[in-house]
Amino acid sequence: MRDALPTAAGRMPVLFVGHGSPMNAIEDNQWSRGFRDLAALLPRPRAILAVSAHWYANGTFVTGNERPETIHDFGGFPQPLYEVEYPAPGDVALAQRVVRLLGEDRAFLREDWGLDHGTWSVLVHLRPEADIPVVQLSLDYRQGAAAHLALGRSLAALREEGVLVLGSGNIVHNLRHAMTSAHRGELATPAWAAAFDADVAKALEQGDGAFLARAADGDAFRMAHPTPDHYLPLLYVAGAAAPGEAVRFPVTGFDLASLSMRAVLIG
Ligand code: ZN
Repeated sequence: MRDALPTAAGRMPVLFVGHGSPMNAIEDNQWSRGFRDLAALLPRPRAILAVSAHWYANGTFVTGNERPETIHDFGGFPQPLYEVEYPAPGDVALAQRVVRLLGEDRAFLREDWGLDHGTWSVLVHLRPEADIPVVQLSLDYRQGAAAHLALGRSLAALREEGVLVLGSGNIVHNLRHAMTSAHRGELATPAWAAAFDADVAKALEQGDGAFLARAADGDAFRMAHPTPDHYLPLLYVAGAAAPGEAVRFPVTGFDLASLSMRAVLIG
């Protein structure tokens, strides 16, 4: 078994995308156009390791399928959304490499998952050709923020191997607030959402991983994230970044008043 994958020229950046509504997969709107524009900012990766908010599981798992299926992990949306397929191949060697990097005693291959909408609703725009292998990594809900950040740090070596580490969540994600605002026609972003989004952006610019881990505690976090699943993918991206790298926010703003759609590109 080879230990390292072929080296691409240079180091891949790391990317976090705020995916928002699954409908962004099939709608032409400012967010889906933003995902399309992101493609121009990236070198072509050899493979993509996606860390999606929607694989929130009782362990650290890596998709080991040669042909990962497109999972429609939502309910109550229009039929065309259930017809979306993202037929990118898997990459078993990359999945095995990820397990070795994270530790064979704590990360495991699984073949009963595939690509969930946290991954494909973004990739249909970022890479519509679906010709780059994609592997997904789960979020272990038993781990604290610092542990997720450390797992992200373990993935940094992949960047030298042409692998794009892609986190997909939302920096502010209080779905109940977002849906209530939409229902009432309230468009103004509340102060708590703007403040959390801005504090996280500043910490990213300063490479302050300790702040990002600490931020996952306290009342401000519980308001921004009643459950942490949409925040945790950011910690993998921040963990895989190196000190002093350029940090950009190619997409910013809020959907449904409080849903942060901020994208983060580092490197
Ligand atoms: Zn989501």
